[in-house]
Amino acid sequence: MPDDKEAQAWFELGDMPVEEFRTALHRVADWAADYREGIEDLKISPNVAPGEIAARLPEAPPDVAVPFKDIFRDFQKIILPGIVHWGHPAFLGYFGSTTTAPGILGEMLVAALNVSAMTWRTSPAATELETLVLDWLRQMLGLSRDFTGVVYDTASVAVLHALAAARENLGLDARALGLCGRPEVPALRVYASDQAHSSVEKAVITLGIGERNVRRVSSDATYRIGISALRSAIEADLRDGLLPMAVVATVGTTSTTSVDPVEEIAALCHEYRLWLHVDAAYGGAMALLPEGRHLMNGVEAADSIVVNPHKWLFVPLDFSALYVRRPELLRATFSLVPEYLRGDAEQAECNYMDYGIQLGRRFRALKVWMVIRSFGSRGLATRIREHIRLASLFAFWLDADPQFEVLAPVTMAVVCFRIAPHTAGSTRVADEELNGLNRRLVEAVNRTGEAYLTHTTLNGHVAMRLAVGNVLTTARHLTRVYDLIRREAAHLVAAVGASY
Ligand code: PLP
Repeated sequence: MPDDKEAQAWFELGDMPVEEFRTALHRVADWAADYREGIEDLKISPNVAPGEIAARLPEAPPDVAVPFKDIFRDFQKIILPGIVHWGHPAFLGYFGSTTTAPGILGEMLVAALNVSAMTWRTSPAATELETLVLDWLRQMLGLSRDFTGVVYDTASVAVLHALAAARENLGLDARALGLCGRPEVPALRVYASDQAHSSVEKAVITLGIGERNVRRVSSDATYRIGISALRSAIEADLRDGLLPMAVVATVGTTSTTSVDPVEEIAALCHEYRLWLHVDAAYGGAMALLPEGRHLMNGVEAADSIVVNPHKWLFVPLDFSALYVRRPELLRATFSLVPEYLRGDAEQAECNYMDYGIQLGRRFRALKVWMVIRSFGSRGLATRIREHIRLASLFAFWLDADPQFEVLAPVTMAVVCFRIAPHTAGSTRVADEELNGLNRRLVEAVNRTGEAYLTHTTLNGHVAMRLAVGNVLTTARHLTRVYDLIRREAAHLVAAVGASY
């Protein structure tokens, strides 16, 4: 225990003596518990203008140490008012929030440990727990032992690594030689549906393949990739002397959660010898349900599959699991051991730094281990099933209301819908006007701070999009959101001269 003088000296250099740290930790822990307990009463999104929060903070860093109580006070007074409360049960944007108590506790412990899981030696338990939770997850997803997992921060980074391995798989020695200044190398082509996530483009931009070499193939009426259109695109590229490399199939697209016909895509990939990457970042969670596993049919034939527990498996940001059939290929693509790590790297077979561009790696596995143990696979499945029930219930209300249209099948926990009121003569308001109306309605709902939705565009129609993914969300919240949407709609539709 430091004496007063020592404690003062310590404080002046930053950090804090252990007793003060203990007090601060308790305060933060209490705050986190209170925050979650009272989150429902908070306004979800702040009405602040860009730059408003930053303007309340000093431009220059402090010269001398600031006591934690002052920092914490500013966190509450300045930072919190600029926060969107993703953990609020009526936050229904994107894929919802996956904050859970065991997830928060896991993050706290990881912050205290602050180890790097780059080699086994740099923290044996971090590497071994990562291997273990990836295998638990593999089993829960129903994937065979043919797949080996690696953790990245996000699905965007996972697809980047998957496509890097796919590029290496072409035998062009792109790792050593790159792609530039090689006239003998044709343009590489990657195929995905018009509903696939934009991370596919980000990956090919980074890999030097070029954004224009992503062929977006049209989807059908249910937003699934058209197989004959995919075949035609590949054939056309072959005729043009281009080099088809990979297909990205999606199980649970971002807008509607549609599921591409993976079995048929896999057969096509086999025929043309293309890499198959399955983006099950969101939809992979469905595999935990016996009644949902069929959505992953065909995935077993993939070369790589990504599943994001931070999207629907109640793990806080971030944790993305990439499963690959040939981990040795990923390793051959990325393994590069600098001299100063050679000793560490030689200690064990598995050093996760070999499987990606990152060297320092957070100990992400701990929170996942805690979440899976806290919920059990049955608990996880029950939550997922409940979210699907809630989304279906919401869609049922909309279906029964003549002013709303559900714009896509509800297969998971996302509902895409729009308000389409009638004019006095009982004709529909024109589409262009409807688009503006629906866009404004999302904004109006979000401005209230009582709910948070996002929007998407489907076949030219602006759709409101509601996603259930939070363990705190119940039917009571959805009832309120439905009433809120109707209330805000009533104000807006009057302005377009329609009845509601
Ligand atoms: N894939 C799908 C289907 C998504 O919806 C998203 C994001 O929402 C991503 C990939 C990218 O996820 P991440 O934020 O983990 O990069």
